[in-house]
Amino acid sequence: MDINLSFLGAARNVTGSRYLVEANNANILIDCGLYQEREFQHRNWDPFQVPPQELDAVLLTHAHLDHCGLLPKLVKEGFKGRVYCTPATADITKIILLDAAKLQEEDAAYKKKRHIREGRKGPYPEIPLYTIADAEASLPLFYTVGYEEPVLIGKGIEATFHDAGHILGSSMIKVRISQGEEKRSIIFSGDVGRWDRPILEDPSVFRKTDYVVVESTYGDRQHEGSKDIGDSLAETINTTYEAGGNIVVPSFALQRAQEILYYLNKLLMEDRIPDLKVYLDSPMAIKVTEVFKRYDELFDRDMKDLLRQHQSPFDFPGLTMVETVEESKALNTLTEPAMIIAGSGMCTGGRIKHHLVNNISRPNSTILFVGYQAEGTLGRYILNGAKSVRIHGQPRSVQARVAQIHGFSAHADRDELLKWLSKLSVNPRHVFITHGEVKAAERFQEFLREKTGFETTVPGYKTRVRLE
Ligand SMILES: [Zn+2]
Repeated sequence: MDINLSFLGAARNVTGSRYLVEANNANILIDCGLYQEREFQHRNWDPFQVPPQELDAVLLTHAHLDHCGLLPKLVKEGFKGRVYCTPATADITKIILLDAAKLQEEDAAYKKKRHIREGRKGPYPEIPLYTIADAEASLPLFYTVGYEEPVLIGKGIEATFHDAGHILGSSMIKVRISQGEEKRSIIFSGDVGRWDRPILEDPSVFRKTDYVVVESTYGDRQHEGSKDIGDSLAETINTTYEAGGNIVVPSFALQRAQEILYYLNKLLMEDRIPDLKVYLDSPMAIKVTEVFKRYDELFDRDMKDLLRQHQSPFDFPGLTMVETVEESKALNTLTEPAMIIAGSGMCTGGRIKHHLVNNISRPNSTILFVGYQAEGTLGRYILNGAKSVRIHGQPRSVQARVAQIHGFSAHADRDELLKWLSKLSVNPRHVFITHGEVKAAERFQEFLREKTGFETTVPGYKTRVRLE
């Protein structure tokens, strides 16, 4: 067999997913993600390892920026092939890329102004990595494929998308390559979701493949139980409601916001919380929720049952979608206790900052964290118990209650990754462990070897292997 596989991103680090398959005179890229870890961000500016015009196709696993966020740059620099993905991924990726481009433009303008003022130069050019126009130019290249429908990518190369259960539209992609009588298959896990999560189906499993490229974000950890998310949420809401304060929830717009709505709807149906007003104050989360509504065929059985009973979590009494800035500002004068869900998820920007200003010094309000808060973010400072934080340039004393709910993760943990790989009834020829910090990937490698005896590697950046 003459197949080469190269690891051009998310290799011994988490973000920047990008793998290149060279076979049958075709160059196929799986994912084209943005590097988000500060120490690797400079790679976003590097030239692509294969000239974009020499690439034949991109297969996109899902709409998270660390998997799709460099597509506009690829297109700007000459890529003219198709971007294959599921219809839901295409719809969400468009929202995500346009938003990312807008942020890139704003960031570059801000940096330029600051550097002129300070008379210095930053480490990166003061131009956006790509513009809104670049993002728009990449949209016509999307070519959608449903789950479980094999599609011919090139001569003797076929790809099938399978539900990954990670976010709406997310996929694991199985690539089959034929050369004469010989055939090989490679599964790219994308991000592996979890079993028994709300809204989405469970991750697809496979019985046979020659090679696996598997993520390992939580390869060295086990998630805390998620069964009590509803209990924790009810407790926080009831306590805050009785105190007469607001519950302010910083949330990611994609998947997390929709899951919170799911739990709220359930608690309301079960009469476990009062009929409080819920405001989804994030234009991006509202747009993504609209996509969810269009793809009800992708939901799990429990969610489909809810829709049949007209109990949609995206449309319950008391839920208001806050579109405009004026409507958002009007939330400052609420007189009844309410829940406000807004972005960004780590409080680094967006409307959440206004709601924090308005609530963080009120002892009867609660700031409720439902997601990971990276080192150095405003969210992390608040979560770590800072007595005072700076928001919009002003010090604010933290007097609100600070709460956190674990268990919302959309990534399989160590045991769930093992469960997914253990469904293979024949040992694969090799497993490549990617998309994890070095420690997580290596620990998962050890764990997997011990449990399954699979042959494994944790490939480094730009490693190129020939698949036998
Ligand atoms: Zn993801």
